[in-house]
Amino acid sequence: MARTRIVIVGGGFGGVQCARTLRRHLRRGDAEVTLFNRENHLVFSPLLADAVGSSLNLQDVIVPLRQLLPDVTCRTEEVRHVDLAGRSVEFEGPDGAVRRMGYDHVVFACGSVANLNVVPGMADHAFPLKTVGDAAVLRTQVLQQLERAEVCEDPARRRWLCSFIVVGGGYSGVESAGEINDLVRGSLRFYPHLRPEDVAVTLIHSRDQLLPEISPPLREFALTRMRAAGVDVRLNRRVLLATGEGVGTDDGFVRGGTIVCTIGSSPAPLIARLDTPREKGRIVTAADLRLPGRADAWAVGDCALVVNAHDGRPSPPTGQFAERQGRQAAENLVRALRGEPTRPFSFRVLGQLCSIGGHRAVAELLGFRLSGFLAWFVWRGVYLFKLPSWGRRIQVGADWAWLLLFPRDLAHLRTDPTERISRAHFEPGDAIIRQGEPATGFFVLEAGEVEVVRATPERPEGEVIATLGAGSFFGEQALLHQQPRSATVRARTAVDVLVLGRNVFTTISRSLAPLRQALTAAITRRSGAFWQERPHVMAALRALELRDFIEPAPRPFVGAAATLGELTQAFAGTDQEVFYVTGPDDRLEGLVTFTDLLHAQARGLAPGTPVTEFMVARPAAVAASDTALVAAGAFREHGFKTLPVVSDPAGRRVVGLVRARRLLARVLDRLPPDGR
Ligand SMILES: Cc1cc2nc3c(=O)[nH]c(=O)nc-3n(C[C@H](O)[C@H](O)[C@H](O)COP(=O)(O)OP(=O)(O)OC[C@H]3O[C@@H](n4cnc5c(N)ncnc54)[C@H](O)[C@@H]3O)c2cc1C
Repeated sequence: MARTRIVIVGGGFGGVQCARTLRRHLRRGDAEVTLFNRENHLVFSPLLADAVGSSLNLQDVIVPLRQLLPDVTCRTEEVRHVDLAGRSVEFEGPDGAVRRMGYDHVVFACGSVANLNVVPGMADHAFPLKTVGDAAVLRTQVLQQLERAEVCEDPARRRWLCSFIVVGGGYSGVESAGEINDLVRGSLRFYPHLRPEDVAVTLIHSRDQLLPEISPPLREFALTRMRAAGVDVRLNRRVLLATGEGVGTDDGFVRGGTIVCTIGSSPAPLIARLDTPREKGRIVTAADLRLPGRADAWAVGDCALVVNAHDGRPSPPTGQFAERQGRQAAENLVRALRGEPTRPFSFRVLGQLCSIGGHRAVAELLGFRLSGFLAWFVWRGVYLFKLPSWGRRIQVGADWAWLLLFPRDLAHLRTDPTERISRAHFEPGDAIIRQGEPATGFFVLEAGEVEVVRATPERPEGEVIATLGAGSFFGEQALLHQQPRSATVRARTAVDVLVLGRNVFTTISRSLAPLRQALTAAITRRSGAFWQERPHVMAALRALELRDFIEPAPRPFVGAAATLGELTQAFAGTDQEVFYVTGPDDRLEGLVTFTDLLHAQARGLAPGTPVTEFMVARPAAVAASDTALVAAGAFREHGFKTLPVVSDPAGRRVVGLVRARRLLARVLDRLPPDGR
């Protein structure tokens, strides 16, 4: 009998517990369990704030999935889409390639992502705390602010640098505020120019009490202890906006150089693309954790909306519930495989634990309430015993003991990676990008000419559909749409390109409005060419030889030594729209249109300025052997009315010009009546 293939999407608390339980109940020969996770580790989110506050090493809050789940196939890949009807997952590997895998059962355990768009300005100015990367960046920010404040002469700015604002009074907000407060105040002795009055840690919460999940006496304890430690806790305050200076609330503006946002999360983007009922973005599940109406799909944890049969209420998004649901989804899945009835999710909370800074915590365990150092000790102990092996527990325990006895580490890592902008050179015929390959970069053509080649099922060898000249760009479509490359781009001449890595391109294109507009225009232009949708037009363009349309090149050609003054005189004495600048053997070096001349005059260039200063260097051209399809693509791309025609792409001896209007009118004239 074929092995049952079970795919789990997400390696957080829910997914890991589900995988472990499945492995306990199903033999390897009976079922293959594959777990997809973006990272190769599980993140212990409740310890993230400790990593921010330097009371834990970053490594201590993550556990490698392979060591945690030795009998499970762990894939560090992002699932992009799940086809529920076709029973397959589509995922993207580290190389950017998209692949598919079929399944018999799928479990959604992909948690949630930080959504800073809940408050205007938050996405631009606040730090989230969701991943271990967020913790590393935030820790660096806190320590950098102390370093900047230490050398700051202006007292007002020094106070601003030392002011930290935490938005949200749930677990992560309380833990973060407590830890940042401890780190900053506990480190002041190492910063001789900073005084306690310079420091402000403000926790802003919209409700009348912190930590809604725990009982009122413990909430009260947490509030009193935090205020005593110096945290300015502001309750019943709603944050309305965030700026580079601080946050605006319904009670005035709070200034601070660091804003931590712990409110606002939305389910993982994958969930939004699923064809299944959702509420507030979370997958609504049936009582047994299955997706409604589906026998083979399950959902657990923060990405799911699960009603707890124990009290009839929706489960809260906590690690404890995610784990329990992961376990029960696995047990129900095993029951379903064995033809037994499944059981509804029902769970009585065992307890709540929250660290509030200063080696203190509040805890409710099996009906007992604890607070202070003992609760903190229990809190750490519980997490220590969740670690996968004794080796790891001893290592982490020793780290904790060390950090309990000695001051926190104030060294900060440089978290801004070296930016990836590079230059590359290609010789004629070299492929710069290839159709079907994953998108890794964006290219700006600095010099030379390239051709865009697209292969289709009818023409697997590919055909040239456009040429691009210096100043053009390519590679944007696949990056922005997260698709494989839709065409090959090949150097026609020697080519120099500027290459922007994916992250650099994403960052710049998001924030630089003119680039965004140019990219949108290019995508519309490149994907919306009317002939691409019409096979008759494509066929007509392909069939026309460019040589039938070539007109004599506009003469005289000018040499590289011609000046602005000479060209101004030349334009004055003729109707000619363009002058070609040529080198030896009429080789095309550049061109000057009347618009280029006007721009040169507007720049205030002297009449003696050589043409090489203001011409379009190495302009796009078509070769006499190209089809009309190539010319049509080049006209559309560059918006030119005419294009130079050269003897061959590499040689570039000018042999004439071709006009857009004549060529396209001829194509339209040749179309059958129903082909337009
Ligand atoms: C700072 C902080 C402190 C917290 N403190 C507490 C606390 O004290 N107590 C408590 O009970 N809860 C706490 N929580 C909440 C708790 O961490 C979450 O409820 C819990 O992690 C949810 O588990 P999950 O398995 O649903 O999702 P997660 O743990 O978020 O795991 C989801 C995983 O899926 C992966 N993933 C997502 N989409 C894809 C995809 N398309 N392909 C592949 N992988 C994907 C993600 O990378 C992630 O690893 C805290 C949360 C935070 C952020």
